[in-house]
This record gives sequence, structure tokens and C-alpha cells, in this order.
Amino acid sequence: MKNILVTNDDGVLAPGLLALAEEMRKFGKVTILAPDRNWSGGGHVKTLDRALRVREFRLEDGTQAFGSDGAPSDCVALATLGYFKEKFDLVVSGINVGANLGHDVTYSGTVTAAMEGVIAGLPSVAVSLEVPEGFVGLVDFGPAASAAGIAVQNVITNGLPAETLLNINVPFLKAEEIQGMRITRQGLRVYHSRLDERVDPRGRPYYWIGGDAPTGVSESGTDVGALAAGFVSVTPLQLDLTAYRAISDLNTWNWHLQPSEVSSLVTNSVVVADK
Ligand code: MN
Repeated sequence: MKNILVTNDDGVLAPGLLALAEEMRKFGKVTILAPDRNWSGGGHVKTLDRALRVREFRLEDGTQAFGSDGAPSDCVALATLGYFKEKFDLVVSGINVGANLGHDVTYSGTVTAAMEGVIAGLPSVAVSLEVPEGFVGLVDFGPAASAAGIAVQNVITNGLPAETLLNINVPFLKAEEIQGMRITRQGLRVYHSRLDERVDPRGRPYYWIGGDAPTGVSESGTDVGALAAGFVSVTPLQLDLTAYRAISDLNTWNWHLQPSEVSSLVTNSVVVADK
């Protein structure tokens, strides 16, 4: 019996979270703490300049859940730092509506919640379903929940290497159309963001980051490629973002810092470092 923390970034009342919680009950006790509103695209957040509040919710099937006004990563921090006065064995985040592929991962609340789990020293899994942007209708989370179950069973059996999380993306297909599961690397997202400048009623400009939904380069071996071929993608991610390939090159550059060439740069504003 494992003690599993379930969270998401679509909000505590999102149907994907309930589907994931139901699947996770097969592995042990499930505790839910997630944002009280949709926090998609919120990135890896640590809220330090305001209080965080937690309220109790009831999900559609009566399941007890907790919602906070913090980010998904704040929810994981709250839970792992002692809100529940108990220890967790695993953090599972999702099921997100929309894929989190390639460069999406640092924008994604779903994935950054799992990153926060890794920071807390817990094996963590993020699960996303490739629902097309603009889709409206009922969604079958069954295939994504089953894929999450297979991943979590593997994590329980085999453990995860330290500093590693699993980023799972499931194609938006019927169960019988899914080709299987593939271990992948991060692929290349292609963003089509466009800045829309508009004017408010007082004549001042304001901005929306708009444009079409991102696409991707369907290269074999990548998360984008796996989904395009009808497979569930399982990408092991690490928080160490060091570009190791650049280190030896950079070591050939000139990094000599000469005290005699340093000029003083003290501005007139007092610096107050946050505690
Ligand atoms: Mn989301």
C-alpha cells in the first residue's frame, strides 16, 4: 500500500484528476491537493510573497479533495512539507487536458508539479492527454489512466533513479487504436505564438500572446514522434538542465577576471534582499 499524492494544474474539480485518482487507488491511499482553479501554463512557481490557503472540496463521486490558491508546485510543496502530517511515497500529476511535449515542460503546471515532487525527494509522474486545442465534449480518460497505472506499477516495482520524473503523454485515440507505450526523449515543439496588440477603452495598448496551437517535429524516438505514430510517450526527465555538451567548449573561452579592470557600480537604490 503506497501513500500517493495526486495533483494537477487544470484545477481540483477537473475530470482528469478524478480519473487519475480512481486509477491510483489500485496502488494505495490517495490524497488530493490541487489548485482551486485552472493553473495551466503557470510554470514552476514558488509562492513566497503571500499566504497560501487550503479549502476542502468534494469531487463528482464524493471523494474528499483539497484545493489551494497556489500553483500546482505550491500544492506539492504544501503536501510534502507537512500540510497532511503524513509522508507520501509518490506524486502523480494529471490527467492534463492537452499534451506536454518538448519545450512545453517548463511552462506546464502538470510537469512542474512532478518536478516539485522530485525536489521533495519523491518519485513523480506527470500524465497528459493530447486533447486538441478548442475541443469541447466528453473525454474518455480511460486510456491515459491505464497508461498512468502501468507507469506507477513500474515505478513501484523498479523505483525511479534519483532526480528523475516520468513525463507521460497519451494520444487522443480510442483504447484499441493506441499502438503501445514507448520510452522517448524530448522532441522539438514549434510554437506559433503571435503578439496581439489591442487598445483598451481609455486608449492604452494591451497585449495578448495569441497565435495557433503549437505543433511539433515528429522525429522518431521523441515524445512528439511517439504521439504522431499513435503510441503513449514516456519521457524520463531530470531537473539538471546543464548543457553538458557545452562545458568543454566554454572552458576554451577566456574567463580571466582581472580585479584591476573591475569598475565600481553602486547605484543610488538600496538593495533589500528577501529573507
Ligand atoms: Mn492544464
